[in-house]
Amino acid sequence: MRILVTGGAGFIGSHLCDRLLRDKHEVICLDNFFSGKRANIAHLRNDPNFELIRHDVVEPILLEVDRIFHLACPASPVHYQYNPVKTTKTNVMGTINMLGLAKRVRARILLSSTSEVYGDPEEHPQKETYWGHVNPIGIRSCYDEGKRVAECLMMDYHRQNNVDIKIVRIFNTYGPRMAVNDGRVVSNFCVAALRGEPLTVYGAGTQTRSFAYIDDLVEGMIRMMDAPDFIGPVNLGNPDEFTMLELAKLAIELSKSSSTLLHKPLPPDDPTRRRPDITLARERLGWQPKVPLREGLARTIEHFRRELGLTRA
Ligand code: NAD
Ligand code: UDP
Repeated sequence: MRILVTGGAGFIGSHLCDRLLRDKHEVICLDNFFSGKRANIAHLRNDPNFELIRHDVVEPILLEVDRIFHLACPASPVHYQYNPVKTTKTNVMGTINMLGLAKRVRARILLSSTSEVYGDPEEHPQKETYWGHVNPIGIRSCYDEGKRVAECLMMDYHRQNNVDIKIVRIFNTYGPRMAVNDGRVVSNFCVAALRGEPLTVYGAGTQTRSFAYIDDLVEGMIRMMDAPDFIGPVNLGNPDEFTMLELAKLAIELSKSSSTLLHKPLPPDDPTRRRPDITLARERLGWQPKVPLREGLARTIEHFRRELGLTRA
């Protein structure tokens, strides 16, 4: 099949391109390089089944494709809050453009939505049936509400125009190719620990997240794209839940660092706890994560060690 990956030069998108090429598909990677980078896909440059297009999804594009993985959108709070109006445009206009394309060429389209649609959840763990607890006017709303509108557009193009859709709600995912300056907690902690600098813990560090390793996530996304008669939304995440203090201690231990912790103010609207209920993914996709945090974090630390030029020859 010919498969379009928007946001294909980003962290998740580049791993997805790798997997799709391994599965013998033709891949068109579309990216505006806002938070993605060429280095993530440089190794694919000479693959005859790989094509790269520099394009902003806010503008329409005409392509002939069978499937679309729609990932284009900055995911780190630092990146999506840099130009919040653009983040909303990317989510709304970008998703309309990709749905318009899917409608025209009758392609199946999968949206990479997020656990952020649950906001600061009052239900724990979060099931797909939970409607969420989102501040519509806060500094995270360009992303949270943007993705909620993106889901709404997906459903309405499906109901109104019969577009073949899939929605996955991704929970915090980490792994190699995260950028050193990504700004999310896993990269911040690994980089600080390797540099011997203090790890910046926001608030008391008792807030929780559940971290999925990239390979597990990609497997879940592929299974969802291929699943017959199931549009979702479906949670994709690792149900093992950790406090940020636990994560910081693990990052320090695994990188054999002597870094200390530096507490900084908790950003507004930072969700207190988050953990996916993955019953639906287990039942409908036969999927569950395999890589425990300790193992995935060790691999991620090796990636950052190389990125920072700290690997001994
Ligand atoms: P990322 O920032 O590494 O990747 C996003 C990619 O989209 C980048 O390559 C960026 O340049 C590109 N992009 C951004 N705006 C664009 C635009 N207007 N036009 C074209 N390309 C654009 O982030 P990621 O972690 O790989 O996230 C990928 C997707 O997965 C996003 O949609 C994100 O919302 C979703 N997601 C990620 C996580 C996670 O933990 N990583 C969790 C939930 C949802
Ligand atoms: N966080 C932290 N130190 C950092 C970066 C983030 O303590 O250097 C916290 C942040 O406040 C949040 C959690 O880690 O509670 C996860 O943040 P991240 O930006 O990775 O993703 P989020 O799930 O909040 O979108």
